[in-house]
Amino acid sequence: MANKSKNQIMDKIVSLSKRRGFIFQSSEIYGGINSCYDYGPLGIEMKKNIKELWWKSMVYNRDDIEGIDSSILMHPKVWEASGHVSGFTDPLIDCKICKSRFKDDTIDKTKPCPNCGNKDSFTDSRQFNLMFKTFMGPVEDSANVIYLRPETAQGIYVNFHNIREASRQKIPFGIAQIGKAFRNEITPGNFIFRTREFEQMEMQYFVKPTEDEKWFEYWKQERMNWYNELGIKKDKLRFHEHSKNELAHYAKSAFDVEYEFPFGWQEIEGIHNRTDFDLTKHQEYSNKDLRYFDDITRDRFVPFIIETSIGCDRTLLTTLIDAYVEEEERVVLKFSPNIAPIKAAVFPLVKKDGMPEYAKKVLKNLKGQFKTFFDESGSIGRRYRRQDEAGTPYCITIDNETFENDTVTIRNRDSMVQERISASNILTYLDNKLKSL
Ligand code: ATP
Repeated sequence: MANKSKNQIMDKIVSLSKRRGFIFQSSEIYGGINSCYDYGPLGIEMKKNIKELWWKSMVYNRDDIEGIDSSILMHPKVWEASGHVSGFTDPLIDCKICKSRFKDDTIDKTKPCPNCGNKDSFTDSRQFNLMFKTFMGPVEDSANVIYLRPETAQGIYVNFHNIREASRQKIPFGIAQIGKAFRNEITPGNFIFRTREFEQMEMQYFVKPTEDEKWFEYWKQERMNWYNELGIKKDKLRFHEHSKNELAHYAKSAFDVEYEFPFGWQEIEGIHNRTDFDLTKHQEYSNKDLRYFDDITRDRFVPFIIETSIGCDRTLLTTLIDAYVEEEERVVLKFSPNIAPIKAAVFPLVKKDGMPEYAKKVLKNLKGQFKTFFDESGSIGRRYRRQDEAGTPYCITIDNETFENDTVTIRNRDSMVQERISASNILTYLDNKLKSL
């Protein structure tokens, strides 16, 4: 695909997202704020579906993983211990002429500035800490500096013993968390791909140090399999292994799950062997014993941690791009019904002859089971197109025949084939199609 058409796809997805109510620019009436986005009625449903699928696979479908929701603001020592205060930095350079800012490692300094075209205009590289700082309490001095968490993981590590004791889990076991993280990224962009405020879904799995490689392999496969549930095309996914100089300060080994975005192969999830780095550091800084006691072998040790860390917003963007299809007469989001924001739309063919009333009755029966949508405006064809763009897998239409034999049509989004079924079977029909997933 030529670059132009790749960019066009992103533009089209941004515009569809706004038009259908998936994603809006934050504070739009004030001209927007760079890299911040708001999720509209369809976006929030999708986000909720993605989070539920993840939570189900991590927590509900297993008995060795517990959930947590830790606070965003944490003791500042956490970030000293974790290495974020000294090491969570990106190299930054500025163009002296146009003042544009770049990550040093993304720019060839022998070439002109990509923004203004001036040559030899770059400053020297300096390190820039990506954590957002604020102050706790009314006094804005250095003693009160506090950070917005740049990852949810640390809230899990500092609660390792709390969760283990309360849940009586034994190693190997994991702790899962979904929550906001904040990074003052130098070059946010590509819509919601890289933002300064985003949501992560992270799971930390505590294992015996001698079993780290076995569990690392296990979680790599588990996580790749999970993308099937999201319905993402297999040939658009791959692993990328971190080379020695790509590895984060805490990692022994790391693999990214990458997706082929219109702007290239990029990470959507990181799977890291964090060794005993985090718990050892927290032990050192807090003076608390964070070792695990194995009551069978009578060993006491600091567990190793295998982390799986995925961005919820980035996953949502992946599913939007992966589902986006342009056909001759329509644009359609061919989501897996699992994550489709609306599961079924109900239309009266015309706004008279008792059809709207009948349609409302059908809708009432589906309420509480599925997210539904009622639409009686415009031609039936236009209503189908609107739902195609929303990715709604099924559209139910009430027509003249409904009153003859209590049947309705159900249109399949992908095949556009319409089946006629008994109105009393709608719920079972949708149940079979949707809940079996
Ligand atoms: P990148 O190399 O893209 O900056 P990272 O390696 O710093 O990502 P991790 O720290 O491993 O990312 O974070 C885990 C996941 O969190 C990423 O795979 C991504 O899905 C998500 N994520 C990280 N930073 C952002 C961001 N600025 N905006 C949206 N999602 C993010």
